[in-house]
Amino acid sequence: MTKYDFITKNELTKKIHFLKSHDLYPFFKEVSSTQSDVAFFGNKKVLMFGSNNYLGLNNHPKIKKAAQDAIAKYGTSCTGSRFMNGTLDLHKELENELADFLKQEAVIVFPTGFQVNSGVIPALAGKNDRIFIDELNHASIIDGCQLSYAKRIKYRHNNMEDLAVKLEQDPRDGSKNLIVSDGIFSMDGDIVKLDKMIEVGKKHDAITMVDCAHAIGVIGKNGSGTASHFGVSKEVDLIGGTFSKSLASVGGFVAGSSEMIEYLSHASRSFMFSASLPPASTASALAALRILKTDSSFNEKLWANTHYAIQQMKAFGLDIGNTETPIIPIYIRNSEKTFKVAKMLFENGVYVNPVVAPAVKDIDSLLRFSLTSAHNKEQILFAITEIVKAIECFSKQLNSRNVYIN
Ligand code: PMP
Repeated sequence: MTKYDFITKNELTKKIHFLKSHDLYPFFKEVSSTQSDVAFFGNKKVLMFGSNNYLGLNNHPKIKKAAQDAIAKYGTSCTGSRFMNGTLDLHKELENELADFLKQEAVIVFPTGFQVNSGVIPALAGKNDRIFIDELNHASIIDGCQLSYAKRIKYRHNNMEDLAVKLEQDPRDGSKNLIVSDGIFSMDGDIVKLDKMIEVGKKHDAITMVDCAHAIGVIGKNGSGTASHFGVSKEVDLIGGTFSKSLASVGGFVAGSSEMIEYLSHASRSFMFSASLPPASTASALAALRILKTDSSFNEKLWANTHYAIQQMKAFGLDIGNTETPIIPIYIRNSEKTFKVAKMLFENGVYVNPVVAPAVKDIDSLLRFSLTSAHNKEQILFAITEIVKAIECFSKQLNSRNVYIN
C-alpha cells in the first residue's frame, strides 16, 4: 500500500468519484447571495428549502447593524480563549440574557454548537460512566461520547421504554449515567419526549441534557426551546444549543445551574482551548435573541408555513414520516434516486438537501426540506409540485439499479 492508497482506495473516495462522474455530486455548491426564501448560486435563482434559517433573520437590518457596531467597538476577533483574554463584556451580556430566556441560572457561550457537545459531554462522563444516546442524535453528540471514553449505549429513536430498559441493564457501581438527546431531530423533524426522558432519567439518578440546536426559535415560549415546550425547564440538567440556525449567527451555548456551568467553564476543553466567539457573531446572536423575546410574528409565520406544507405534502401522498416541525423529511428510500431527484429539483429552481448513506441507512435516504418564516404559500406549493414531479420521474428506476450504494 502506498501512502496515498488509503485515500484513493477507500469507499468514501469511490462514492465521491461515482457522484462526480455521473454529474450527481450535490455538495459545496457556491451561494452568492443572502439565503432567505430565495438564494442565488451564481446567477441561478432558486427557492431555498435547505437552510436552518427558521425565522428568516439572517438578513435582518437590526442584527446586521449590531454586528457592524460590534466590529467598530471590539474589532473582528478576540484573539484568545474565553479562559484567558477572550471574554468580552458582550459575551457576558449574551450569557445573562440567554440564561433568563431559557429559565436557567447560568450560560456559557462556545465558538460553535459542535464544540458544545464535543466539550460538555467528556467533561461530564469518563471511562467508568455510561452515556445513553438516541440512535438519531447529531454527529457532535456522538463525537462528544467518543472523546469521553465512557460506555456509549444507543436506545431506539425517541423510545423511552427502550431507554428505561437499557438503564436497568448492567448498572455499574459508582458510575454516572448521562442521557443526551437532540431536542428536535435534525433530519426527521420530530421532538424528543423530554418529559418522559427526564422521568426515566430521575429513576436512575442520570444527568439529562437536551440539544436545542433546532428547537430554539421554533418551539417553547417565544421559541425558548424543548424544555419550555414541555414545561420542564427546572427539571432538565443541561440545555445545549447553537446560534447558527434561528439566531442568525454562529456559536453555541450550554445552560444549567450556576455550579454546573462554573464547572463546565473550567472542564470543557473545546471551550477553554479555542478562541472565543468573535464580536460580530456575539452581537448578532444577542440582537436576534432580543427579536425572539419581543416579536412573535416570525415564529407565527414559520408555524403557519409548517402546517400548510405538512398538510399539502400529505395530500400529495409524500412519505414524510413523523415530523412535527419545520424540518420535513421527504423519504425517497434509495440513495441514488435521492441524488437524482435533488439534482432535478435544483435545475427546476428548488433547493433541498439530499441526505443519504452513510449519514442515514440507504432505505431511510431522504430530501431534507426546511421552512423559514420568509416563505409564502405560493412558493411552498410550487416546491411541493416540483418535488412530486421529480419523484415520479425517477420512480420507475427505483431499486432497479443502485450503483452508488452497492
Ligand atoms: N447539534 C445539532 C442537533 C445540530 O443539528 C448541529 C448543526 N447541524 C449542531 C449541534 C452543531 O451546531 P453548530 O452549527 O453551531 O456547530
